[in-house]
Amino acid sequence: MQIAQDTVVVIHYTLKDDAGATVDTSDGGDPLAYIHGNGNLVPGLENALEGKRAGDKVSVKILPAEGYGDYDKGLVQRVPRRSFKGVADVRPGMQFQVQSEQGPRSVTVTSVAGDMVTVDGNHPLAGKNLNFDVEVVEVRAPSEEELAHGHVHGPGGHHHH
Ligand code: ZN
Repeated sequence: MQIAQDTVVVIHYTLKDDAGATVDTSDGGDPLAYIHGNGNLVPGLENALEGKRAGDKVSVKILPAEGYGDYDKGLVQRVPRRSFKGVADVRPGMQFQVQSEQGPRSVTVTSVAGDMVTVDGNHPLAGKNLNFDVEVVEVRAPSEEELAHGHVHGPGGHHHH
């Protein structure tokens, strides 16, 4: 069976940056299971996997436009320390959920200077090339329940109790 719209796809993957450092990998853990063509993976990776079969290996470099988007300086903001109510110690690397016009957004604290905190709302991989090595483990039709839920059940997917 080939990977196509709404097929259940199970993959092992390794993501590296342009310097060859591993950013993320399923190696040593469960493979990733997803329903193809529903925006679960970045567009460039879904495009590269289209039409592949179990056992196929894919290596692809994905540019930011097909990955996590370009780095947007407008998403970097300085906010007063006092807006972090209830957080005793704001430090670089901490992540917070904030409300934005596009809904909830995750921001990362990048620096703290005196009473001002700089936060960055970009995805950590925004503006970066994504170098994926993927092995297709399984391709199968979804169950009606999986299609209705929009996610895969069982190994690598969701477990309902
Ligand atoms: Zn479900």
